[in-house]
Amino acid sequence: MPRTSRPKFLKMLSMLKRAYPGAKCSLDYDSPLHLLVAVMLSAQCTDARVNLTTPALFAKYKTARDFVRANPCELQSLIRSCGFFRTKAKNIIGACKLIDGQYAGKLPSTMDEMLALPGVARKTANIVLGNAYGILEGIPVDTHAIRLSRLLGLTQHSDPKKIEKDLMALVPRKDWLQVSNLFVYHGRAICIANRPKCQLCPLNGLCPSAAWDHATSLQVRKALRLSGGKNHAPLSASSKGRRPSDAPRSLGPSAFKTLP
Ligand code: SF4
Repeated sequence: MPRTSRPKFLKMLSMLKRAYPGAKCSLDYDSPLHLLVAVMLSAQCTDARVNLTTPALFAKYKTARDFVRANPCELQSLIRSCGFFRTKAKNIIGACKLIDGQYAGKLPSTMDEMLALPGVARKTANIVLGNAYGILEGIPVDTHAIRLSRLLGLTQHSDPKKIEKDLMALVPRKDWLQVSNLFVYHGRAICIANRPKCQLCPLNGLCPSAAWDHATSLQVRKALRLSGGKNHAPLSASSKGRRPSDAPRSLGPSAFKTLP
């Protein structure tokens, strides 16, 4: 059960939209298939690293059949820097075999079909369906979405599937993809794991976990550190710091002009 009401969350959402008007998927791709491959490579890896890796990869392998015919060792060496390269190469080739054999080389466009591909779970399927086809069947729940959802009081769960269900009840369907992009941008710029910059956050007047002074910031950081960033419950009102009377309620959208 979310602690934050829907009207309150909709205000947060609108603030995030104002703070990050250009939020979008940060992976580079030129086709639905290449987006799938990029998302598979991004597991346990940064999008920036994936974007450094994919130009050479995509120049060599353009279609599902190209990946099926790939020499596994050669493919592994091209994606080595993304980590877990043996498993990722195996899953990419396995997924492309299905796409080439069952779907004539075209990436399928339903959740069930996507989930049947090796190495594809709901987060990957939601990102690919939303960005490649504009199909919104759910909300991508990555590490930023997990952390932000808990800190903002949108869920009390840790399991991504349960978090996605709570979010789907709160977020208007048209925003299911964008809310995930906004969480990524906010999680990278302000609500950083283990060191949230609450004093700079446009949500600090609404967020149940907002910390206003140094001591409270340390409290949030300690709670996040102890839970590995996963099990932090919002601070109780009594443990929250007071907002200094002269502190700005938020720096406003102008403070975010230089953010990604
Ligand atoms: S107020 Fe602090 S804890 Fe809440 S979303 Fe902003 S940075 Fe994160």
